[in-house]
Amino acid sequence: MKNTPANNTESWQVLDREHHLHPFTDTKALAKEGCRVITRADGVYIWDSEGKQLLDGMAGLWCVNIGYGRKELAEAAYQQLLELPYYNGFFNTSHPAAIELSKLLTEVTAPHLNHVFFTNSGSEANDTVIRLVRRYWDLAGNPEKNMIISRDDAYHGSTIAAASLGGLKPMHEQGHLPIPGITHIAPPYLYRDAGDLSPEQFGIDAAHFLEEKINALGADKVAAFIGEPIQGAGGVIIPPESYWPEIQRICKQYDILLILDEVICGFGRLGTWFGAEYYQLEPDLVAMAKGLSSGYLPIGAVMVGDRITDLLIAEGEEFVHGFTCSGHPVACAVALANINLLRDEKIIENVKTNTGPYLQKRWRELADHPLVGEARGIGFIGALELVKNKNTRELFEPAGEVGKMCRNFCFKNSLVMRAVNDTMIIAPPLIMTKEHIDELIELANKCLDLTAKELGIS
Ligand SMILES: *Cc1c(COP(=O)(O)O)cnc(C)c1O
Repeated sequence: MKNTPANNTESWQVLDREHHLHPFTDTKALAKEGCRVITRADGVYIWDSEGKQLLDGMAGLWCVNIGYGRKELAEAAYQQLLELPYYNGFFNTSHPAAIELSKLLTEVTAPHLNHVFFTNSGSEANDTVIRLVRRYWDLAGNPEKNMIISRDDAYHGSTIAAASLGGLKPMHEQGHLPIPGITHIAPPYLYRDAGDLSPEQFGIDAAHFLEEKINALGADKVAAFIGEPIQGAGGVIIPPESYWPEIQRICKQYDILLILDEVICGFGRLGTWFGAEYYQLEPDLVAMAKGLSSGYLPIGAVMVGDRITDLLIAEGEEFVHGFTCSGHPVACAVALANINLLRDEKIIENVKTNTGPYLQKRWRELADHPLVGEARGIGFIGALELVKNKNTRELFEPAGEVGKMCRNFCFKNSLVMRAVNDTMIIAPPLIMTKEHIDELIELANKCLDLTAKELGIS
């Protein structure tokens, strides 16, 4: 690489410290520890600048669904860069890559989702969702119906609007958020909040938080409800089966738009193309990103339901919103190649019928570990609740220390597993084989043991 003074870890760490401000990072702590430099990846493994190989239990950041190193995606990008490296969709123009990707996305989503609005990220997709929701109710003659209800512990991205939709307190505090017009209800966090209730009853009760909020605000003021089918960054919060059908019912009853943020669940994570399929939901809008291109290039999108597009088209007035790189041809070409591979190689079907059930079976074995209060998951997503007392579900204090300790043991022992407070998370590439899964479980077990030992628990 040009202008690289010295290709070695230490000099990279120095340059990184001096010039690179990292996302979601304690810069002071990083400066002391030095960054980890990842230099290459293949399949389900990544390598750092010291040549150390790690099993990537997080698919990057929940996104490399297809696995690393697929030449088809690189080839698609290369060809598109030569043919048409840039053009946009503003002012009545288009190009084949965006058109073909739009068509393909309508084929892998529900029948009533027939239009796509492209963005460069999941955050921008959720910003776009807010714009579309409000535009819709304005055009429908209901401009007062503009509040959006979201959930605590939700993650919808990091722009001002997306972080406002999200329910992460530290993001709100630092950003003076949320912006007006967005409010939050409690999530269906079964392990933490259900107490003695059955999962069935707790799911219904948690859905009723939405109904209570709608009634408190007045249904004529509420535009939409947004939720991730499974809350990812909030700790892989998996709702009881009773939750989503009740949410859907409430949205219909009060004429509230249902928005699904499928940025994590989309493109196979649950063993279905989308979480909507898994939970049999009919969203009006769907935000997607991450798995759309398996993270190979930045791209996001919003699938827009007929109910909304019919009105936009009927009104025939400009929707004044968009990004310079909305539907970027190279990102679209890569997403097309990615989706075609997921489809042609039946990767999602394999997660559903073969590797997903195997991962879940083996993952649940970790619940026998003295530190693990619960091991949960669906398809290729999973979480472990690390607790001080398995019987009383008592948590460690202060929250997050034990999770971080376990995560650090993982890095040292060749496994990427993430910590959300003291919940350990996996979301591996969808191409993991049973052998890879065995390796993942063995490494996770070892790191749990090391954590327990450090804490003096056995
Ligand atoms: C990652 C994520 C986003 C934000 O996507 P970016 O591409 O990082 O902007 C939004 N929603 C969910 C559920 C996510 O996991």
